[in-house]
Amino acid sequence: MSSNNVRLQAITSVEAYIPPPISFDPGEEPGEIFGQNVFSLAVMQKRLPKAVYKSVLATIEHSAPLDPEMADAVASAMKDWALEKGATHYAHVFYPLTGLTAEKHDSFLDPVGDGSAFASFSGKTLIQGEPDASSFPNGGLRNTFEARGYTGWDVMSPAYVLENPNGNTLCIPTVFVSMTGEALDHKTPVLRSQQAMAAHAERILRLFGHDPSRVVSYCGPEQEYFLVDSHFFLARPDLLNAGRTLFGAKPPKGQEFDDHYFGAIPERVLGFMMDTERELFKLGIPAKTRHNEVAPGQFEIAPMFERANVASDHQQLLMTTFKSIAKKHGMECLFHEKPFAGVNGSGKHVNFSLGNTTEGNLLLPGDNPHDNAQFLVFCAAVIRAVHKYGGLLRASVASASNDHRLGANEAPPAIISIFLGDQLADVFDQIAKGGATRSKEKGTLIIGVDTLPDLAKDPGDRNRTSPFAFTGNRFEFRAPGSLQTVAGPMVMINTIMAEALDHCATVLEAAIEEGTDFNEAVQDLLTTIVSDHGAVIFNGNGYSDEWQVEAEQRGLKNLRTTVDALPELITPEAIELFSKYSVFNEREMHSRYEIGLEHYLLTVGVEANLTLEIATTTVLPAALRYQTELAANVAALRAAGVDADLSTLESVSAPIAALRAGITSLSAALAHDHDEDALLAATFARDEVLPAMGAIREAADTLESLIADDLWPLPTYQEMLYIL
Ligand code: ADP
Ligand code: MG
Repeated sequence: MSSNNVRLQAITSVEAYIPPPISFDPGEEPGEIFGQNVFSLAVMQKRLPKAVYKSVLATIEHSAPLDPEMADAVASAMKDWALEKGATHYAHVFYPLTGLTAEKHDSFLDPVGDGSAFASFSGKTLIQGEPDASSFPNGGLRNTFEARGYTGWDVMSPAYVLENPNGNTLCIPTVFVSMTGEALDHKTPVLRSQQAMAAHAERILRLFGHDPSRVVSYCGPEQEYFLVDSHFFLARPDLLNAGRTLFGAKPPKGQEFDDHYFGAIPERVLGFMMDTERELFKLGIPAKTRHNEVAPGQFEIAPMFERANVASDHQQLLMTTFKSIAKKHGMECLFHEKPFAGVNGSGKHVNFSLGNTTEGNLLLPGDNPHDNAQFLVFCAAVIRAVHKYGGLLRASVASASNDHRLGANEAPPAIISIFLGDQLADVFDQIAKGGATRSKEKGTLIIGVDTLPDLAKDPGDRNRTSPFAFTGNRFEFRAPGSLQTVAGPMVMINTIMAEALDHCATVLEAAIEEGTDFNEAVQDLLTTIVSDHGAVIFNGNGYSDEWQVEAEQRGLKNLRTTVDALPELITPEAIELFSKYSVFNEREMHSRYEIGLEHYLLTVGVEANLTLEIATTTVLPAALRYQTELAANVAALRAAGVDADLSTLESVSAPIAALRAGITSLSAALAHDHDEDALLAATFARDEVLPAMGAIREAADTLESLIADDLWPLPTYQEMLYIL
């Protein structure tokens, strides 16, 4: 087809495209390759002197500091292993506040005086790097005199070799901090908050008579994403630059039939999935389930849960792997929360639990009343934490892109509440009334010292409309967006849990000191927590309008947008909370708030400029051409003495006028000056710029449904969503 129409050319190219065959033996045992490129405990055990291995193991298992004396030996073994794997360079990988993954590569080779070079990698180089990297957002934490940033090895997160056709690299997961030790990244606070939570969880366990090993928090992220053929992606400047469509009429067929959800995975997509899973396996990322999601073109992958810091590193690695392998298969992987209006958006549900090697999962109901009491204390801590700090949880998932999803019909509302399921809600109901004696599921009556009921494991009920749901042995935080790192939500969860567990331990310790019977003290604690914080428990439909009203009556916050949510980070209570548990100091809190606002403004700014550009240079010209064609038709008919029907011409002219008016108002909104007040500017962006973009889109989408198909220049929703 000869045409200058980018869209029609894209369709032709998609038709001609032959996906690459998978490049490995599909019969290969996954076990053979799992962790193949990871400097794992097993590899270390084999390659390190016993004493060194023991020291590293202690660091990993008990979060003990790594003995610097050991670092040289680890570095040397790691280097030899990496060279055998074909690595030529090493990189400290870190997670700056852009939300992306950053790496600075250095060669293993050091030149020697005689003109040759030899491979070197010392303990010091392993432990600490100095990437400078002064261009990453720091929210005022780095003045020029202290501009340097340092990376430090997170011993708990294993190093790995990343393969690339152009050379392999040894990757070392690190934290990224300023010269004064302030966090410039997403990992540092995960580790700090993890430590805070662990200390107080262990106090509770000791009260229950255990001698606990180190408690850690676990995270199992469920990643949703869209796949779009690259030809369409490249023909859509909005997808290319903003990650979402800023234009596009609703297709005649959307997701109404639910015919995509859990359906057969298309062949081409399956090839991509097999390829990605194989890569993830090599990197030791346990990708477990995969399926089609609700919207056409939408899919999900859920890796097995791991320690929160490792899970968030793996999650980032998963996203980069998906992006690059999708390209190899002629597709683009979209992680934006709402790439297409009118069909479901993508989330990244964060399943979280806490536990250790001695007591196991602490959110798992026990086999006997004593264990159940302990389980209920941990659950009560979650209830207190989420009720007291719901605003902070909301702030941890705030972004311009996630705003399009939260509160929409397919995603949990911006109101943070807890779903407990019938059984557990009933137990807490009874506790509120002065003591639980029976469990709904089993109707068991426990008589004796303990007044707490037996609980069945994994009651298995689900409430998809709740932002924070108990699912049998963990809580699922459903508000995080698909584009976000899980580190942000995990920092919040760990920190607010640290406060709640600290509270519980302090109350129980004081009661014991006063000679109160332990069971009675637990009972009192649970009763007080439910009556003070039970308002956060909601088992109903979170999508309903009635909930909005009821939540307000219950005093729950409804922070609809990022602009409403971010100020939660700098309230006096938030600053006190984070400094008390040594997760963020006041400067760090302010820096995250500033960076959040800045990111919001940048995102809306780019989208607004793109909207203007596409409207002016793509949509309007197509519309004018069609209008001219129609006008010529009218003129020709009149010249021929035939009655001309003006209705089509008029129906096109009205949205063209609206489009022009929209372009004028958006340009005016963008010219507005905010005197550098970021909150003011963000509020304006939300209240003026986004609606002005909406008006342009409305006119353009109307035109899309009117203009002759061969003149329409942008790939349509049905093409992007249904052709794979
Ligand atoms: P669903 O769609 O029913 O929520 P999925 O299988 O898609 O379930 O995802 C469940 C996620 O929860 C997985 O990542 C899984 O590893 C994780 N998970 C399971 N048990 C725990 C746990 N105890 N702690 C944290 N995450 C868990
Ligand atoms: Mg799922």
